[in-house]
Amino acid sequence: MKSSMPSFGKALQKALQLDLFSDIFGTPRAKPDSRPPEQSGETRSTRPSNPEPETHAPEQKSTRPRRRILLKDYVLDYELLRSKRRSIGFLINDQGLRITAPRWVTLADIEQAIHEKQGWIRKKLAERHERIQKRLEPEMRWVDGARIQYLGREISLRSAGNSVRGTYFDADHGELHLQLPALASEEQFKDRVQSWLQQEAKRVFTERLPLFAEKLQVRYQSMSLSAAKTRWGSCTSEGKIRLNWRLIHFSPLIIDYVIAHELAHLREMNHSPRFWATVQSVFPEMEIARQQLRQQSNADMPQF
Ligand SMILES: [Zn+2]
Repeated sequence: MKSSMPSFGKALQKALQLDLFSDIFGTPRAKPDSRPPEQSGETRSTRPSNPEPETHAPEQKSTRPRRRILLKDYVLDYELLRSKRRSIGFLINDQGLRITAPRWVTLADIEQAIHEKQGWIRKKLAERHERIQKRLEPEMRWVDGARIQYLGREISLRSAGNSVRGTYFDADHGELHLQLPALASEEQFKDRVQSWLQQEAKRVFTERLPLFAEKLQVRYQSMSLSAAKTRWGSCTSEGKIRLNWRLIHFSPLIIDYVIAHELAHLREMNHSPRFWATVQSVFPEMEIARQQLRQQSNADMPQF
């Protein structure tokens, strides 16, 4: 789970959140981003000392063994270096967290310092992770002829000037025609595409939810779209379903799986074997869909 997500209070704990990187795949929570963020920090030393500024280390692959610590709901891997410095230093680079500590500081002290500094660490790791993702993403150009994924299929975006009213999808040719002024900016182009996708997401989810609710014999109270960065969906015990509009990029199989998954939480508010059996009972292709979602979550998606 990314640290940018709000942490849940007691009341929300029952409201299970479907986490892109863990529960939707039914796998135990993996280790956190192993090649996260940047910047350096200082923390208190167990001895009075003058804080030494940490320098930005060259970003090279380290062969040193990594240590692991369990924080509240998070497994943190880090590299520990011993040095002659007088305080514990924290550095975030592409490989993750590196801690430099004086030789006389015990591991218990270091772990204590990590606990105290965890807010900063998680924030910086998340920021670094996002920057790495951005670097990997080719810049999307929002122009006539650009291509995006819609329901698991690649479609072309066409700037139609005034020859169409509003937005028209030509399913036969896989073309989305957008009514745009002649000198529309890429921003306007992008906004038009995004609102069409969100409208489609709402339409498709609203069509599919009742089908699975009936199969599962559950009632949901409401459905709303979310734009969460790391979650595909969530469901509260009161039956409030939230689904990420970006699911509209994926195949109907994946969309149905996420819908079945969330609704199944109204029968089992957990990820127990009984929960997975419940999903499977109404959605036999569960395993294939989960695998596809895992692969495609990593694929390039246009960033809105
Ligand atoms: Zn779940």
